[in-house]
Amino acid sequence: MTAKIIDGAAISQQIRDKLASEVAAFRAQTGVIPHLAAVLVGENPASAVYVRSKQKACETTGLKSTLHKLPADTTQQQLLDLITQLNQAPDVHGILVQLPLPKQIDQQVVLDAVTPLKDVDAFHPENVGLIAQGRPRFLPCTPHGVQQLLMASATQIAGAHAVIIGRSEIVGKPLAMMLVQKGTGADATVTVCHSRTRNLAEITLQADILIAAIGVPRFVTANMVRPGAVVIDVGINRVDDKLVGDVDFDAVKEIASAITPVPKGVGPMTIAMLLKNTLTAARLQTKS
Ligand code: NAD
Repeated sequence: MTAKIIDGAAISQQIRDKLASEVAAFRAQTGVIPHLAAVLVGENPASAVYVRSKQKACETTGLKSTLHKLPADTTQQQLLDLITQLNQAPDVHGILVQLPLPKQIDQQVVLDAVTPLKDVDAFHPENVGLIAQGRPRFLPCTPHGVQQLLMASATQIAGAHAVIIGRSEIVGKPLAMMLVQKGTGADATVTVCHSRTRNLAEITLQADILIAAIGVPRFVTANMVRPGAVVIDVGINRVDDKLVGDVDFDAVKEIASAITPVPKGVGPMTIAMLLKNTLTAARLQTKS
């Protein structure tokens, strides 16, 4: 069996087209342009590329984006001052702090400083708490993108055993919280595996849905995948100037029933969900 390829580029484009008309309607109705402020500290080339593609996506969807670029030797206080200014700016609806931050800055302190109503990455403890309780204000972009891919590919999620490899605050943990909730796109039985998990393959072989968010190129091999499983590859790794995922795509596609490629899988979905959250933030902050 060769797996169906879950085309994140095409699915995200459909979502962005729909969002563009929602943004146009919102602008016409309120006169407000949803505005994402991106903060980039330092010269990390990958971060600069990510921020640029997020900004470009904003522009093509009718959202405003501004970039606040700070030097690598920015102090934590200087960054916190900028966050305060953006928190208070009435025309800024979403704040994105591109990670990683330079080592002199405590990432947690900075992310906690973003006002929850503008926290379009859903990293603030208040927003994480709301997700855990099943009443989200914003859904975190990458986990939400994964969930949307599962739904768009008509994967049976309710009752399925979803195994997530990776327990990061950005992907693994919030995704587990989302898939285990009651309701559409959820109701799964979720297992979270990580670097201390024993007999990993024994667990992954039980997965109806296997999600890899590890950061190790081609970590998930064919002998870890149950025939017919749906495999979602969150990983983005640069190997010999090529982007590869956390899944050995060529081998696993012969076993899985459906699989996301890298690139053009989860990556573009993350951006689409960020745009969606920026519109949601503008709605929440605009009295109609
Ligand atoms: P992270 O480094 O914070 O977490 C990696 C997780 O993998 C950890 O929880 C760790 O326990 C687990 N792990 C590491 N080695 C393991 C092993 N041998 N066995 C089992 N588990 C192991 O990474 P992250 O931020 O969650 O990102 C994971 C990957 O996803 C990276 O490649 C990153 O670039 C990519 N990513 C992609 C997007 C996107 O938009 N597509 C967004 C965020 C992250």
